[in-house]
Amino acid sequence: MKIVDVKTYPVVYPVKDPFSNGMRTTRQRPFGIVEVITDSGLSGWGEGTGVPARRALESQVIGRSPFDYAVIWEGLQLQGTDIGAISGVDIALWDLMGKALDKPIHQLLGGSFRSKVDAYATGLFRRERSDPTAALVDEARGYVDQGFKAMKMKVGFGPDYDIKNVAAVRRAIGDDILFAVDANCAYDRGSAIAVGQRLVENNLLWFEEPVSSDDVESYIEIRRALNVRISGAEQLRGHRAFRRFLQERALDIVQPDISICGGFTEYKKIEAMASANHVRVLPHMFGTAIRMAATLQLLANLPDVPHSNVPFPVLLEYDMSENALRTELAVEPIAHVDGVVAIPQGPGLGIEINRDLLARYAA
Ligand SMILES: [Mg+2]
Repeated sequence: MKIVDVKTYPVVYPVKDPFSNGMRTTRQRPFGIVEVITDSGLSGWGEGTGVPARRALESQVIGRSPFDYAVIWEGLQLQGTDIGAISGVDIALWDLMGKALDKPIHQLLGGSFRSKVDAYATGLFRRERSDPTAALVDEARGYVDQGFKAMKMKVGFGPDYDIKNVAAVRRAIGDDILFAVDANCAYDRGSAIAVGQRLVENNLLWFEEPVSSDDVESYIEIRRALNVRISGAEQLRGHRAFRRFLQERALDIVQPDISICGGFTEYKKIEAMASANHVRVLPHMFGTAIRMAATLQLLANLPDVPHSNVPFPVLLEYDMSENALRTELAVEPIAHVDGVVAIPQGPGLGIEINRDLLARYAA
């Protein structure tokens, strides 16, 4: 099987109701979709952050077999291709390998530990509302009503907003719901510790990205100062970027994103490094149906650590914000039922792509 072409589809979803995390307001959601086409008639699909240059695709990808995935990965990087763009090609190559062998990707990774996974609702952003606290409480109650047993809220807006609203949401959802918060790197070390000391009174599952994603020393200090799990690293590219975070145990939970960190090939290296250093892995997911399907393949293959009777939950990040490229790009959408998502069992990623949507949201 030989790769004969790679098509790139830069797409943008325009958000109707803009939402903010601690760093920025989202009005548009860009994604880099790639289709790797082979002479067998099979196509593989991937999602990265951006797409590789035509010249790099012609010299490193076209003409090779998808089973040369590691050689292709190194070749693209040597050509100077951003790892976020390599990620999409790599996911498409794994989709192709699965399709060629008529097996889901989790079988290529070593099998599945689970056929379905609990999801946590990612939402509770800051929005322009007359009563922001009431809006957050309503939204959080809505997730409980939909059956979610876990959710994550955005913080990083200063002590007044964070302390008041995290407490209000915790009160509204009760003590049985797993509840994490995410500052998206909006604090410095001092604010993260000061605000964090108040937030942890709300029985948090984890405190995500309190500070800048490359500030290993601050993560270590925050982790020692706060009685809560610290998570992060969703923006890191390539396994070496994770090295100090893992070796120095700057995180309790490392959250590589398959469409940013370098695809399946790089993610498995990061997972092995995390395991060697006793750091928990829970992949980040904020993208289209392709990234969601790829992340589900990873979660199928993620062992419980430790193998206890009551393991720490393996959770899918289920983005609740508006994005037709997540909800409609797969012909059969990946949806949760009572907060639980089934792992796709079809060959490769296990989804079929609705090409009309790529045209509709072409950048
Ligand atoms: Mg995050």
